[in-house]
Amino acid sequence: ETVKPSNFLRQIIESDLEKGTYATRRWAGSPGDAAHHAQGQPDPAKIRTRFPPEPNGYLHIGHAKSICINFGLARDYGGVCHLRFDDTNPEKEDTEYVNSIIDSVRWLGFDWVQIGQAAGTAAPYQASDYFGFMYRAAEHLIEAGLAYVDEQTPEEMRLNRGDFGRPGVDSPFRSRTPAENLARFREMRDGQHADGAMVLRAKIDMASPNINMRDPAIYRIRRATHHNTGDTWCIYPMYTYAHPIEDALEQITHSICTLEFEDQRPFYDWLMERLCEGGLLSSPPPRQYEFARLNLTYVITSKRKLAQLVYDHKVSGWDDPRMPTIVGLRRRGYTPASVQLFAERIGVTKSDSWIDYSTLEGCLREDLETKAHRGMAVLNPVKLVLTNWDEVMGAGHLEPCTQPALPHAAEGVEVPTRHFTIGKEVWIEREDFEEVPPKGYKRLFPGNKVRLKGGYVIECTGCTKDASGTITEVLATVVPDTKSGTPGSDLVKVKAAITWVGVANGVAAEVRMYDRLFLDAQPDAGGKDFIESLNPNSLKTITAIVEPSLANAVAGQQFQFERHGYFVADLKDHVQGAKAVFNLAVGLKDSWGK
Ligand code: ATP
Ligand code: MG
Ligand code: MG
Repeated sequence: ETVKPSNFLRQIIESDLEKGTYATRRWAGSPGDAAHHAQGQPDPAKIRTRFPPEPNGYLHIGHAKSICINFGLARDYGGVCHLRFDDTNPEKEDTEYVNSIIDSVRWLGFDWVQIGQAAGTAAPYQASDYFGFMYRAAEHLIEAGLAYVDEQTPEEMRLNRGDFGRPGVDSPFRSRTPAENLARFREMRDGQHADGAMVLRAKIDMASPNINMRDPAIYRIRRATHHNTGDTWCIYPMYTYAHPIEDALEQITHSICTLEFEDQRPFYDWLMERLCEGGLLSSPPPRQYEFARLNLTYVITSKRKLAQLVYDHKVSGWDDPRMPTIVGLRRRGYTPASVQLFAERIGVTKSDSWIDYSTLEGCLREDLETKAHRGMAVLNPVKLVLTNWDEVMGAGHLEPCTQPALPHAAEGVEVPTRHFTIGKEVWIEREDFEEVPPKGYKRLFPGNKVRLKGGYVIECTGCTKDASGTITEVLATVVPDTKSGTPGSDLVKVKAAITWVGVANGVAAEVRMYDRLFLDAQPDAGGKDFIESLNPNSLKTITAIVEPSLANAVAGQQFQFERHGYFVADLKDHVQGAKAVFNLAVGLKDSWGK
């Protein structure tokens, strides 16, 4: 295990552990909370982090960074990371998204626990489970004179909030008594007012230089059926109010989010302090820390925009192998280890920057280099006929050949052997023959010898063409006694070895050659219409011929097609031994710089 490079989050956590910041904190808990039965108990976890997606879409590579950070820190410091659905927004959420998020986090290699529940079986946390506590906390704020019901129109509220150069103006409802506010708030809860008629606002400071502190709205009326709580509520907490409470109830220590929430931190702290003072939460409360979100070139990381690609049929679905979603990356052939390696390599910083897409690809190559089985596939086939085969080897003879599936396997890994045959006819790449060779060309041309990798040395004698001049067959002779791995096979010297597949045992496969989805490195930067930069050639489907071991792949299994790149048997369409379908995961070399 290599030592992980430090970063500002690690330093903060190490300092908190050293100072014992959270060492004496006791579970608060209150009726209805997940942690209620542990009330008053010390927390066995040294730190608690959380990954809190809103279940309104599929997770993408940006979320993967956040998952690796949060679960990784918990793992490294004797802590626990919670998967929590931030489901306080009833309209946009769906259980389809909930399930896909659970699958994606598990696929990445992480798991979560809840008190009293075993690993691998624990339910995720849900923000909506805390609606009751959030409501009581709101009543507490009202009673303490720290919140009021505002009946200004949304337009008046917006104008009176002011902006950076202009302080806000107090709402005429700001001076209502706690009793009046409490009555009104209960009317809101009881459905006596229309959606949008009024909101509950925290009473802080209308002149604050931070607009987020100018009496932010904390509850709104919204008649919508919630996927968890149904029609129990017609008022819902605002995200900025709900999130700190969710953290506190789950005993989170370090609440890590992206930089755009930096301006919300003063409200986070304000709310935590008020609720601790009021005895509703135990001290010290969680703290929020911000890191730079992932921006990856040629990729969009916004659930809303990714949804647009899906609903406008620009891609085949959330799991289209061109999508930067976790399900898309998985179907493209990415491994959990490659994504974790990527998250580690890009690190954690406090300033925004762009990461080059080739960094992600490099991580996949690095992971697959020692793990993906090799195989031969001919992507652009032309037939090669060994004209002396019947005479030298016997008519119709098929010679069995073997190759290791993994030439550079890690020590101790048992390497399986691939079996295939060579006969009179084999498929080769069209590019591997030139009638008139360009300077320096080492592969097949009349008079030149090459090795059929894992087979025999052959000598090219010419080709046949159809009426239009297209080459229909390449002709060659086999050089006897040169079979790979037999004594003396290397006595005949050649300058090149080419890949091939025997006609007798090759299998036709659908191969999807993917390219970047966008032509523009920053498709949605500066409000650009990302649809305009969609690459019209991001998918080319070809029919290749693959060796038997590849046709026998299990769906989801990665391979290196020798000389071509890494491919994966498609999770949805490949059927082992019956229908071969492969996706290009990544080429062998970085081709993005060109
Ligand atoms: P989107 O804009 O794509 O909808 P989001 O931030 O609204 O993303 P959430 O479901 O709220 O999506 O995100 C859950 C967590 O993932 C948050 O803590 C968020 O900060 C983090 N996250 C989202 N996008 C990125 C990103 N590009 N890089 C790093 N973390 C991210
Ligand atoms: Mg969000
Ligand atoms: Mg969002």
